[in-house]
Amino acid sequence: MNLTEKTINRISQDKIVFSLGIKLLLEDEKYNFDELFITLRNYIFNSIPNKTDYNSEAYKNAINTIPLKPTYTPIVILKSYSTKIAFNKLVELPKSENKKTITSLVWIFKITDTERRNTECKNGCGHYWHNTD
Ligand SMILES: [Zn+2]
Repeated sequence: MNLTEKTINRISQDKIVFSLGIKLLLEDEKYNFDELFITLRNYIFNSIPNKTDYNSEAYKNAINTIPLKPTYTPIVILKSYSTKIAFNKLVELPKSENKKTITSLVWIFKITDTERRNTECKNGCGHYWHNTD
């Protein structure tokens, strides 16, 4: 697990406050949108049990509670399209939307991964990234 992955998981597990964690990710000197986007997409898709259309109650709840203005383009896209199509559109957005996209994806992962930790992983799991101490 590299430092970025560790930060994402620490945010998800409430070991870093969300806003501070986002700041750490976006202000990292190694910040690279494409890499961070791919990491977050894989994390989110992994955390959703339904591998057919990557939808779940936790996912729906997550996109409805992203702590940004609901009129921001990435959020409108997430609410308007199915998961895979939405993610394909997010990666094509202009650079000015990148930070809003990352903030949205970290929030979604926090919710969907917390759901997974509270269900599938409840009685112990072998996911090394669920152990960030
Ligand atoms: Zn786990």
